[in-house]
Amino acid sequence: MLYEHLSVSPEGHLLMDGADTVLLAQEFGTPLYVLSEDRVRENCRKYTEAFRRYLPEGSRPLYAGKALCFRGIYPVIESEGFGADVVSAGEIYTALSAGFPAEKLVFHGSNKTDAEISFGLDNRVGTFVVDNFAELDALSAEAEKRGVVQDILLRVTVGLDPHTLEAINTGKVDSQFGTPIETGAALRILRRALSKKSLNVLGYHSHIGSMIFDPQPFLDQIDRLLAFSAEGYRATGYAPAVLNLGGGFGVPYIASDPKVDIGGNIQKISEHLAAGLERYGLPPVRILMEPGRSIVADAGLTLYTAGGLKTIEGYRSYVTVDGGMTDNPRYALYRSSYTVLSAARLNEAADFKCTLAGRCCESGDRIAENILLPRPVRGDLLAVLTTGAYNYSMASNYNRIPRAALVMLSGGQPRLAVKRETFRDLIARE
Ligand SMILES: *Cc1c(COP(=O)(O)O)cnc(C)c1O
Repeated sequence: MLYEHLSVSPEGHLLMDGADTVLLAQEFGTPLYVLSEDRVRENCRKYTEAFRRYLPEGSRPLYAGKALCFRGIYPVIESEGFGADVVSAGEIYTALSAGFPAEKLVFHGSNKTDAEISFGLDNRVGTFVVDNFAELDALSAEAEKRGVVQDILLRVTVGLDPHTLEAINTGKVDSQFGTPIETGAALRILRRALSKKSLNVLGYHSHIGSMIFDPQPFLDQIDRLLAFSAEGYRATGYAPAVLNLGGGFGVPYIASDPKVDIGGNIQKISEHLAAGLERYGLPPVRILMEPGRSIVADAGLTLYTAGGLKTIEGYRSYVTVDGGMTDNPRYALYRSSYTVLSAARLNEAADFKCTLAGRCCESGDRIAENILLPRPVRGDLLAVLTTGAYNYSMASNYNRIPRAALVMLSGGQPRLAVKRETFRDLIARE
């Protein structure tokens, strides 16, 4: 099995934390997202333990809620000692409605609307990550109106290409996120931010991309952030107290993908940081990181029921399931790879090559290509692994397909965390 929390029962059923996926599908229907709370906690602890061991006091991991945002996740990550990265008023609302403390929220986004800036200020969001000049001015004006001093980080682009996919690469100079260092704009936005009485600049943020398996891009990122910190220090006398390194550690989706040693990488980051601070003569900094995928991706799987089966002679065989790009758009967006299992037939040889397609009216609606399964029959239960991140949070109602339900397993016990949408839900706002 790809992960330790998955196993096979004597009758060949896929178990997650000991819970039988065949029974889960019977009880809750398909398509169904299943999320292991225990695995989410284990993943959190890889960060919190390494942070405690290697990083300065006051450093903290933040969960990037865009990976999987629903109310039930917030008490879990809060009890694991995480803050949360939010990217919209909707995510703020969700986190606060679940009782998450506003001061532990870090508010991102390349275009926070005026309404969202007000919403964030009125709800006392701890930190805003300022993306650009226009936002800086809008935020400082609103904070001033309220007579508050808002903590901010400045999002800078360090000009790095971590060799990940174009669609998830955000660290390059030519990016719609953040203010670039290379062009001098980052230094200008620092000067402007320091001139605002209603803003307190805590430090800098940068996020270089996602699905990064190697620590080196993060070390390069630190070099650039420290070089910029030193430049800012010389120019203005300001040195950052916080560096937020963003998210980005990858997870294995298929057996040939590498595994990331989170603790080992954080140790390398810490050593590199300490040496760099000394080299530049900069004061100590607290570190924030914003993992999303590496917290929830491998904790989730999706259960589908197979329907249409066809073999196009001389080409390939298709298996169509009762979900698709509406619950998992990642193949359509990124050509992602997945591990697919026949969840009730794991004792049988998987020797039938096929492509798993969704049910939407789009030829791009696929989940995985050229996978091996026991020759499927209509009604088979199929499990797609590693769907905890960027699946439910990216789901849509295309073709008027109701969004799938989400079941959370705690100690192997299922609880319906998000109900399946109904037809009534589909027309509720019309
Ligand atoms: C997407 C994103 C993250 C999370 O990235 P993962 O690859 O899921 O860890 C963190 N911070 C920012 C600013 C992001 O855009």
